[in-house]
Amino acid sequence: MEIRDIERAAEILRPAKRVAVLTGAGISAESGVPTFRGPDGLWRRFRAEDLATPEAFADDPKLVWEWYDWRRGKIAGVAPNPGHTTLAKWERRFPSFTLITQNVDGLHVLAGSRHVLEIHGSLWRTRCSVCREVREDRRAPLAELPPLCFCEGLLRPDVVWFGETLPMEAWRMAETAAEESAVFLVVGTSSVVAPASSLGLVAARAGAHLFEINPEATPMAPLAEGVFRTSASIVLPEIARALGAG
Ligand code: NAD
Repeated sequence: MEIRDIERAAEILRPAKRVAVLTGAGISAESGVPTFRGPDGLWRRFRAEDLATPEAFADDPKLVWEWYDWRRGKIAGVAPNPGHTTLAKWERRFPSFTLITQNVDGLHVLAGSRHVLEIHGSLWRTRCSVCREVREDRRAPLAELPPLCFCEGLLRPDVVWFGETLPMEAWRMAETAAEESAVFLVVGTSSVVAPASSLGLVAARAGAHLFEINPEATPMAPLAEGVFRTSASIVLPEIARALGAG
């Protein structure tokens, strides 16, 4: 990363009317939340892909809930980092700003972002598999595993599992934001989980300036006009300072 890259990104962002950002697990890594694909991303002997499915839940709801309970426990004690807080400030900086996240940890909301498209749901909500009621239970530990609804139905995490469709309204808004954005930032995602991985491409094809922030190479990088190979918690505040909105 060179200083002129930050300045170039800031120059492009400064006059932009429509800005959209897609975040992934990497933005929360420096808050202490493990990513799925990093070295710390293991849970017992299971792979996330084997537990985050409707089939796994049908086979063994207690095991799946133990994994979610472990993740909730890890996340309950962590705080947003300067990457999250910078994006929360940008909500007020740009005339139109859309924050799309694949994360289910709730850290963008905790950082002060008021409008977040949580396209993969939230660990801090449950949904009844019988009556479908969705309930917020922010950061509260669960009394029993698996938890049950008032209607005695089995509660599931209100997250999108592999093989499930995304919440329609949030996804439609995310696609529209990608199509209409003047600048699109892809932050801390491996860009391998569809359909979220397509949003950068949608934005670039529609003529947006595409930037990526990720310490590792990803399939998105060749499409981006600027790539910052460093942590989101460092580079986002740097761009904000160059922008005069830090
Ligand atoms: P991923 O685990 O596939 O990839 C994380 C990416 O973040 C990697 O490319 C890595 O190089 C990058 N990264 C690591 N540290 C970084 C940092 N400090 N700054 C910037 N980038 C950094 O995550 P993904 O692409 O979001 O995968 C998608 C799925 O993983 C989603 O379904 C999401 O719900 C789930 N997930 C969410 C969380 C969370 O809510 N925090 C955590 C793990 C997985």
